[in-house]
Amino acid sequence: MALLQVDRLRVEFPARQRTLVAVDDVSLSIDAGEVLGVVGESGAGKSVTGAAIIGLIEPPGRIAGGEIRFAGRRIDCLPDDAKRHIRGREIGSVFQDPLTSLNPLFTVGQQLVETILAHSDRTAADARRHALRLLEEVGIPAPAQRIDAYPHEFSGGMRQRVVIALAICAAPRLIIADEPTTALDVSIQSQIIALLKRLCREHGTAIMLITHDMGVIAETADRVAVMYAGRIVEVGPVRQILRSPNHPYTQGLMESIPRLGSDSAPLAQIDGAMPRLHEIPVGCAFHPRCPDASERCRETRPALRMVADSASVACLLFDDGCADD
Ligand code: SF4
Repeated sequence: MALLQVDRLRVEFPARQRTLVAVDDVSLSIDAGEVLGVVGESGAGKSVTGAAIIGLIEPPGRIAGGEIRFAGRRIDCLPDDAKRHIRGREIGSVFQDPLTSLNPLFTVGQQLVETILAHSDRTAADARRHALRLLEEVGIPAPAQRIDAYPHEFSGGMRQRVVIALAICAAPRLIIADEPTTALDVSIQSQIIALLKRLCREHGTAIMLITHDMGVIAETADRVAVMYAGRIVEVGPVRQILRSPNHPYTQGLMESIPRLGSDSAPLAQIDGAMPRLHEIPVGCAFHPRCPDASERCRETRPALRMVADSASVACLLFDDGCADD
């Protein structure tokens, strides 16, 4: 049984003239100890999918269809306090900007101790000892000297390490990491990725890694789900998808990854932009940007179909299970 199972998730935001669909018919699963990368440009529905899983869709937005199961238990229809209990204790979260997760008025030690006490029966003294161990585990140098510092006294990379320490306080089985490295320098990005991978390996923590950066996916994930206009358009083992991406959108994302030794060649870009929610075209939502689009693509929305061992793609080129010649 998968640790997280999302089936046919639909998230809607009512607007003045019509209901906007941010996530449409999304199904995915994550096993214990697995890193699932969820990739796509801004507006693809990645973060809304993550927010739905941790119960953080802001009203009037709502889950309008589908199911979310965690460890076999349905969690999308729980009352708010039960969702809050799962969030933090069973599912941790790390967001792009560490300052949104940290309270500037309290020391990192106070915030860690408070979170540890909220999720365990430890005494205050034991919680502080645990906080020190966590700071050490996430690579904060001299944690005994830093534990009483305030968030603004840490660099961006160190703040993100503190946020990861907060996320693992209660030893959650799943961490939703939404663009955890985007705000950081490139050299710090790889340190944070290495830290997340180590946590995954050593504690068996599963990670849903949301990013716009296919390079981060290549370094980190076991499997990848590519999202476009609220839907998954390709999903499968990361090595397989990196080696032979099937969906034209995935191919475009792959061409935008910088490669060592090819710094003279300009990086390819996908022409056009992700459609806004009120402008998602009928048929295949990618057709206005797709170099392979045909007349049929303007009318028919492709379903996600398995094309190879554990890899699926939503593209009419693969409608019969294999690409057209
Ligand atoms: Fe391109 Fe058509 Fe495939 Fe959509 S269905 S990705 S438009 S070829």
